Amino acid sequence: MVRINPEKAAAKSKLKTSDLQAALAVQKAAFKRTPYPAWSIRKARLEKLRDVIRAHEDDIKNAISEDFGNRSLLETDFADIVSSYNEIADQLKHGEKWMSRRKKKVELAQMGASAEIIPQPLGVVGVIVPWNYPLFLAASPMIGAMGAGNSVMVKMSEYTPKFSALFKKMMDETFSPEEVFVATGGVDVAQAFSGLAFDHLLFTGSTSVAKHVAKAAAENLVPCTLELGGKSPVIVAGDANIDDIIPQIALGKMMNAGQTCIAPDYALMPQAKINAFSDAMIKRAEEMYPTFAGNEQYTSVIADAHYARLQSLLEDAENKGATIRVAGNDDKQQLAKERRIPLTVVTGVNEDMKIMQEEIFGPLLPVMASETLDDQIGYVQDHARPLALYLFTKDAATKDRVLLETHAGGVSTNDTMWHISQSELPFGGVGPSGMGAYQGEKGFETFSHMKSVFHQSTGGIRHAIKGKLMAGIHAPYDEGSEKMVKMAKKQAGIK
Ligand code: NAD
Repeated sequence: MVRINPEKAAAKSKLKTSDLQAALAVQKAAFKRTPYPAWSIRKARLEKLRDVIRAHEDDIKNAISEDFGNRSLLETDFADIVSSYNEIADQLKHGEKWMSRRKKKVELAQMGASAEIIPQPLGVVGVIVPWNYPLFLAASPMIGAMGAGNSVMVKMSEYTPKFSALFKKMMDETFSPEEVFVATGGVDVAQAFSGLAFDHLLFTGSTSVAKHVAKAAAENLVPCTLELGGKSPVIVAGDANIDDIIPQIALGKMMNAGQTCIAPDYALMPQAKINAFSDAMIKRAEEMYPTFAGNEQYTSVIADAHYARLQSLLEDAENKGATIRVAGNDDKQQLAKERRIPLTVVTGVNEDMKIMQEEIFGPLLPVMASETLDDQIGYVQDHARPLALYLFTKDAATKDRVLLETHAGGVSTNDTMWHISQSELPFGGVGPSGMGAYQGEKGFETFSHMKSVFHQSTGGIRHAIKGKLMAGIHAPYDEGSEKMVKMAKKQAGIK
């Protein structure tokens, strides 16, 4: 297996801050020339993006798999490629309508005038991409930004050097530097990138790095959308049937070997359910992956450092008294060589263990005893607001309580992950799991300035009436002015 050293791979990029600034200047100048690209231009860009992905499907799957050591080809096809096509199809279907001006009512006192909202492209949108779904997390913000009429600069992750280089080549061959610029490289390039005076910056990555990105963006007061992670809980309510819920949780935890921002991180359930849950999860994992080593359908952990981090979470939990169950019967050395970690259920956990403190981002599932719904809601609310929350119950009142009394970026009930795939649901976090949202219409608005415009009428009878009505707000104030203020208060419901 190819072992990637991200720093070494990143060192190949010779991009300097001045190169990035020059690329930004090119896009800003182009935007000045074409500040409001017609739908035909936006549509053509979206179609070109779709077509270049279509033409390179196999290259994309192979490059991402090489970067991971092994990445299930079907997972790339489904989660990176199909998801990108879906986003493009949605923009193509609705983008022209989303562009349209929206007429708004005017207040009575401004009778005769009119008001509207004009969605306007922002200019140049910066996008910083993580490694875990490297096509989708580059393409999805690009699609929203392009649909909204912007040009885009993208910084790829140093952990996916093969795919990053391929994506750069694909974009360079498809778009002019005025439309799309792709930067590869390491943290030094990322730091310089996050300090550029974009018109908007969308960062997808960890909460800790987001703090640096937000600080760098603040230098130029660049508005940011921060798409982050966190510990996404699974609440298993007392009424949930274990056999019914296992497939959904197993899929969420093992797709991409748990390296998904919205993967279930830990589970909360009554103690009496834990043994049955643990048995059933292990059984399900072994049905899905009869072997983990050598199995092309099971994704490897991205890098040695992440593999070591996950092993140290397990060691720490074991040293502090947790029980660890690993699915399958694979040779440990072989697994380590392939950087594969089978589903691992960790029970008897408590909050002193690192596994209950840090985002796991791997196929380890700690299960914590939590007896009542009050306890479960209390636990979630006492911890950092997560990106996702999963609730398993058949009871409508339980659903409502959890939905209304807990905070999370998004929720799936009786399933995991699928709220992310719904084109009419915005995607984003809350608090430390993110700021702002995008995808679908929300993405179009995130990458637009929704400009409020008031048009005064310039003549005719309506203007004359309006002029009389509004005379009171022009000094010198008199009785007529007081009458006008009284009238305005009455209109606002003040007696
Ligand atoms: P990361 O924060 O380490 O890196 C993300 C990007 O930031 C990379 O391109 C990297 O080069 C860049 N970067 C690193 N240091 C930087 C700095 N000092 N200044 C500016 N940029 C810098 O994240 P990762 O390991 O690539 O991805 C995993 C994290 O991303 C997890 O926390 C996961 O939950 C989160 N994530 C969130 C979403 C979402 O949509 N909310 C999606 C995928 C991943």
